Amino acid sequence: MGLYIHIPYCKSKCIYCDFYSTPQVETMEQYVHSLLCEAELRKDEIACKNLNTIYLGGGTPSVMPLDLLTKLVKGLETIFDLCRIEEFTIEVNPDDVTLNYVEELKQLGVNRVSMGVQSFNDNELQAINRRHSAQQAIDAVGAIKDAGITNVSIDLIYGLPGQALDSWQRNVEQAIDLNVQHISAYNLSYEPGTRLWVMRERGKVQEVSDEDCIAMHNTLVKMLKDADFEHYEISNFSRPGYRSRHNSSYWNFTPYLGLGVAAHSFDGATRRYNPSNIKEYINTLSNGNTVFIEEHLEWWERYDEEIMVRLRTSDGLDTSLIEQHYGAQVYNHLLEQAQPFINQGSLKQKGNIISLTPQGVMVSDNIIRDLMWN
Ligand code: SF4
Repeated sequence: MGLYIHIPYCKSKCIYCDFYSTPQVETMEQYVHSLLCEAELRKDEIACKNLNTIYLGGGTPSVMPLDLLTKLVKGLETIFDLCRIEEFTIEVNPDDVTLNYVEELKQLGVNRVSMGVQSFNDNELQAINRRHSAQQAIDAVGAIKDAGITNVSIDLIYGLPGQALDSWQRNVEQAIDLNVQHISAYNLSYEPGTRLWVMRERGKVQEVSDEDCIAMHNTLVKMLKDADFEHYEISNFSRPGYRSRHNSSYWNFTPYLGLGVAAHSFDGATRRYNPSNIKEYINTLSNGNTVFIEEHLEWWERYDEEIMVRLRTSDGLDTSLIEQHYGAQVYNHLLEQAQPFINQGSLKQKGNIISLTPQGVMVSDNIIRDLMWN
């Protein structure tokens, strides 16, 4: 079971980002206090005795000074039983990382660092308003390893404005050369409300074509496979034994507790959403109240989500679980809907397991939509 903590602060906004983030770093101290209040109020919500992963995500958790991060982690230790934690991840930005910083994180129990690199090309980084250079990212990976953290993940984005296939190849080569344990790679998406979206509307950036993005994805998959990475989820690759345990629990439909502004939680039947407003979050918690909105999932909504998350993984969808959870009628519906995709080679079936083929990965959204109940 996983504990997610959202740290919403970012020093500047990347032009493609539609996550909730705020530059109001002056609220950090109050925010940590609110997080611990929320943890205390919600500690019995899920079976927190079985917590085995912690994930500090953002925003940019590494923007938070060490004394406040220490206060947060020490506070959590008094509220939850953290003695079974196997994986404790923090997201960092390269420009925040120093040897001393990572050594201190290690002292707090962090054993996995996930770094937003996005590109190893300075022109590409500047075009999307990242705050760091390629060299800073390379140095940061070195500092993380020197501090003795042996589980390092980096995020990359392909299909950046103006990016050509050979530039993307050099990005992947550099990632492989850094000898990290985990790589997440996402196709750039143009989200409404972002600066990138507006720039495209005004003709200031041109979207990389679908064909070129497919070529970049195929290059990525081949290069990482040749470098002994396992492609275990549509956007995620790991060295053997280094899958993200925390994120795998989302894909396995395992309950998790999410604390902080804009965080979500799931207990197997109900989703809880915290508001994307730091003022509202802090004020409500300071009055001793929880702040989430609750949504009970109907069986077909759970089914749709289960299809969506499980099919994204190389482990695939165990159809016997679908029969067990939703009954024979739903099971038969699934098999009927899946058959055309199996016939055309975008899904494969082995025993009870249905999974995407490499060809299916590129059209996974369409397949998943067709398998859904609604
Ligand atoms: S650092 Fe991450 S969360 Fe912050 S603006 Fe950039 S992409 Fe968004």
